[in-house]
Amino acid sequence: MMSFNREFRRYALLNLIQAFGPISRTQLADVSGFRPATVGEIAKALLDEGLAVETGFASAATGRRRTMLELNRTGIGAVGIAITRTHATTVLARLDGTILREETWQRGADASRETLSARIADRVAALLENVDGLRLVGIGIAEPPYDPADYRKDDSLTVNYGHFNDWIHLSLRPMLEARFDLPVRTFSAVTLPALVERQYGAARGSDNFICVELSNGVGASIFAGGVALSGAHGTAGELGHTVVDIGSGAACYCGKTGCVELGASFPELARALATAIARGAHTKLSPEDITPEAVRKALDDGDPLCRAYVDRAAMLAGTAIANAVNLLNPDRVVLYGYMLALGDYYLDRLREAIRHQTLEISGGYEIVTSPALESKIPLGAAVEMFTHFLRSDEYRWVYDMMGESEK
Ligand SMILES: [Zn+2]
Repeated sequence: MMSFNREFRRYALLNLIQAFGPISRTQLADVSGFRPATVGEIAKALLDEGLAVETGFASAATGRRRTMLELNRTGIGAVGIAITRTHATTVLARLDGTILREETWQRGADASRETLSARIADRVAALLENVDGLRLVGIGIAEPPYDPADYRKDDSLTVNYGHFNDWIHLSLRPMLEARFDLPVRTFSAVTLPALVERQYGAARGSDNFICVELSNGVGASIFAGGVALSGAHGTAGELGHTVVDIGSGAACYCGKTGCVELGASFPELARALATAIARGAHTKLSPEDITPEAVRKALDDGDPLCRAYVDRAAMLAGTAIANAVNLLNPDRVVLYGYMLALGDYYLDRLREAIRHQTLEISGGYEIVTSPALESKIPLGAAVEMFTHFLRSDEYRWVYDMMGESEK
């Protein structure tokens, strides 16, 4: 049995290598305070297990060359699974963020729990064929967020996300555990875009940021004080259903009025444009072709109708985002989603609206955009498996130390 001290040192060194690598054994001994012989012994074990690799040399001032150690980012892998009302996505990802395999398929909304679990297990088995040389650390499942539209309509298994999560815990997870000799864990999907942005994307190095998706809806993934927020029931980040238009009598599908999504999501924007065109509004936009690309072209051509509606969409979304900024005081706002294809006109209005309604004292933040990565949620579930495997949350002091050393 591994002693506590030995285990503690092993994970401390793994995380030090992740945080500071490439790093030499001598530097590891300096930073950790562990005896060089202990560092050498653990490093050898990590190399033997394929968790670390030697990557060339650093010339020390004395002229001696020192072998550097790095985490084996291309040799460690995890599976991520995301499930929506209609589809399931499975990915096989490496620790370096590369998605080696990815598959999205219609999951069959009418299938029973067991059938659906078995189908997903089959897809995972196919994903894991011929992956010799990859050290698999587990399977992460994203728990779907509640969908305000479905939640009100139906309480059946396949539609209501509350029941959906029961199915994940009572059927899918045990089936995957039984079939694959790997740890299986579940994670709240609302946190996963933020975790991916922090690990690989536009929020690296930040402990306080919000990611905002602008697409079929408006949603936020929140990282505050070094922690991703899921809330008491996994519904944190429903930015799209914050009320920004109290005077509006229009009903949102969630049952309230005045939600930001009513004017700011792309389907609502498209619907409003189509209605205006049907009423005879003058525009270059064809009612048969209201896509982000077509609207962008019209915006760039100075089309007054498109500009007016996009101004309003940007103002509503910007107001909600500024409210979140005032509440959370992030240092970064990461925007992603297919609405960014509306181009500079939209993005400029959106930035103005956010800045305009942010408190001066909350003003020290950047607004950045991130590529709309469809696989953010399943990749996030894999990222969580890496974190779990390396116990990076328990060894957060290592990363805090890295922050200190950069100051
Ligand atoms: Zn709503």
